[in-house]
Amino acid sequence: MSEQEVMDYLVGKKSESDEQGCPVVAGIVDESGEIIYATNSIEDGFAKKFPEEIKKRSEFFYRHVKHAEIVLVEKLKLMGKDLQGKVVLVTLLPCRECLKVLLAEGVKEIVYREDHEARGWSKRSHDFMIEYSICNRRLSE
Ligand SMILES: [Zn+2]
Repeated sequence: MSEQEVMDYLVGKKSESDEQGCPVVAGIVDESGEIIYATNSIEDGFAKKFPEEIKKRSEFFYRHVKHAEIVLVEKLKLMGKDLQGKVVLVTLLPCRECLKVLLAEGVKEIVYREDHEARGWSKRSHDFMIEYSICNRRLSE
């Protein structure tokens, strides 16, 4: 499967995100060729504790969505896997907070598709990747 095909597969999983206003999917291809992915989502703890806020999809909801990259790191840890030396594909340019985690996890390269240049965090993400020499590539659609 080509990188473009993997990215297309991840884009196809956006519908599984809790955050349909801005669905994001992050994934890797593991040693056996299997795609392991995660979407941005609401923690079960928040969903149980604040069911009305979650249902209303209020400001609370948007502030508490966990980013796909973090969900992916947690999912891999539960599977006994990690991101050391891996290429991570993300449907949207990661924010700086997620970049920090991916960097600490030993990611080799970040491949993304969408870049919201209009958002302030896009520049911060690019500055951060330059500062830490994180290999990154934007895939066209
Ligand atoms: Zn993020």
